[in-house]
Amino acid sequence: MEILRGFQFELLCCAAKMTSTKPDRTAWFKGGTASCQETLASGAHAYRMVLLGAPGVGKGTQAELISERLGPCQLSTGDVFRAAKTLDPSERTPALSAALEYMKRGELVPDETVIGIVRERPNCLRCPAGFLLDGFPRTVQQAEALAKMLGDLGVNLDAVLSYDLPIDQIVSRLSGRRTCGGCKAVYHVATKPPKVVDVCDQCGGKLILREDDRPEAIRVRMEAYAKSTAPLAEYYRQRGLLISIAANGSPEEIYRRTAVALAAR
Ligand code: AMP
Repeated sequence: MEILRGFQFELLCCAAKMTSTKPDRTAWFKGGTASCQETLASGAHAYRMVLLGAPGVGKGTQAELISERLGPCQLSTGDVFRAAKTLDPSERTPALSAALEYMKRGELVPDETVIGIVRERPNCLRCPAGFLLDGFPRTVQQAEALAKMLGDLGVNLDAVLSYDLPIDQIVSRLSGRRTCGGCKAVYHVATKPPKVVDVCDQCGGKLILREDDRPEAIRVRMEAYAKSTAPLAEYYRQRGLLISIAANGSPEEIYRRTAVALAAR
């Protein structure tokens, strides 16, 4: 058994060298009937997972690593809202415009709005390459709605990865985070600085401190997280889906822990 797990783990790590491409997220950003070109190498497992963790634990970075290495598309509800921000107000649906107001204040968007936005994207939930939900669900009500949507589509979740980190480390990570206004790449002033201060290495765009990463908004987000999101871990633990992962250390160390945990399932 141990030998088999070791083999599975090596496969999960090696996948990094074989496939290091960013999956196409057209369907996630456009919604409705939009589709994308996602396929998975033959014989590869299509992972269908949810990522949990307070803002700033490095969940987004792990989502990118898992997505690039194991193939599932990163479906971040926060990214949908941030993309909506760049649209002309006349192009936004009323639900998206309302959601942006909550987001600006660092508050959670109401459950029905977020659930509606995910429900409008069934092609992503039944994607043959799998999916990695990042930032959704955030409340038990959202988790129940997701279970219903997946049940209707005949899709099962493989696992819920919960990244855990003490709060003081979270605040230090968040206030140093910088996001590219153009391509949305994420940096950190201390742990992942760009080559030129405030300039994106990938597209030359200007790096910004996200409105919801400002200290006042961080405090509100942490309160919202503790109140609404923490019970989710319990919800998924009871269903035998939860995998807890210590989120200290470098992104590679955390990814290895993730790969070990997935191989052990
Ligand atoms: P994130 O990038 O996941 O930290 O999300 C950024 C912001 O988008 C959050 O602070 C919320 O305002 C909003 N948001 C994203 N996903 C959700 C969700 N599942 N439920 C409620 N609000 C959300």
